[in-house]
Amino acid sequence: GLSAMAGKAKGLQISGVKDIIAVASGKGGVGKSTTAVNLAVALANRCQLAVGLLDADVYGPSIPTMMKLHGKPEATEDLKMIPKENYGVKCMSMGLLVEKDAPIVWRGPMVMSALEKMAKGVEWGKLDILVVDMPPGTGDAQLTISQRLQLSGAIIVSTPQDIALLDARRGAHMFSKVNVPIIGIIENMSCFMCPHCSQPSFIFGEGGAKRTATEMSLDYLGDIPIEMDIRTCCDEGVPIVLSSPDSTSAMKYTDVAQKV
Ligand code: ADP
Repeated sequence: GLSAMAGKAKGLQISGVKDIIAVASGKGGVGKSTTAVNLAVALANRCQLAVGLLDADVYGPSIPTMMKLHGKPEATEDLKMIPKENYGVKCMSMGLLVEKDAPIVWRGPMVMSALEKMAKGVEWGKLDILVVDMPPGTGDAQLTISQRLQLSGAIIVSTPQDIALLDARRGAHMFSKVNVPIIGIIENMSCFMCPHCSQPSFIFGEGGAKRTATEMSLDYLGDIPIEMDIRTCCDEGVPIVLSSPDSTSAMKYTDVAQKV
């Protein structure tokens, strides 16, 4: 858990926010945002915490769709943005601030100032946990976020595929370089249970994230299957943790949330 983590990284604290945790991946498309959303919703609804979700994936913000958020955020009298709340989670995303089809072509410094505004120019109120959906990869933007925000820890999401794991290792190294403790690795799209023959298929390989965690002496937080419902729920804007709370997948997300 977070409280057990020693040696927090230095950086800017957001007032009222107890812990900021990053959900990161070395590669895009491995299910980082899906994981961030389901974790945030599980932390709020199952663990009864005050939770915020910051979509820092400025290049491809998907939180507004996944959390069914509409409209531009309102501002307070002192011109702070009021996060949009749904399912008990306060959210902020670049996707709420720009037109839907507008290309987000930004250079590094603009990305950073946008992120800074989304983190500190937002009236988060009192939060136990702010979950940050990081941009994929280990470039400048990721490094700067890790240094600027006072992250309590990072969760790394990877599929069991070798090339994804290679990038996940890079991500883990980046966080340790800036002294952000790694809470653990989650394996997403672990296995596909065939609805016709009920046999598992290990589409991206078997057990890779667990092996990587062991090799790197990191905690292994669990595995999430590749499942049609996880995808459709995200597309419909009702995370599976809420739409089918008794499903195996929802319980797996809740398990991970309890380890955080
Ligand atoms: P990332 O944030 O890493 O780019 P996303 O969370 O946007 O990845 O997921 C990429 C795509 O894969 C999305 O269409 C999402 O709905 C789907 N997806 C993610 N995790 C799963 C899963 N466990 N089972 C089925 N589909 C998934």
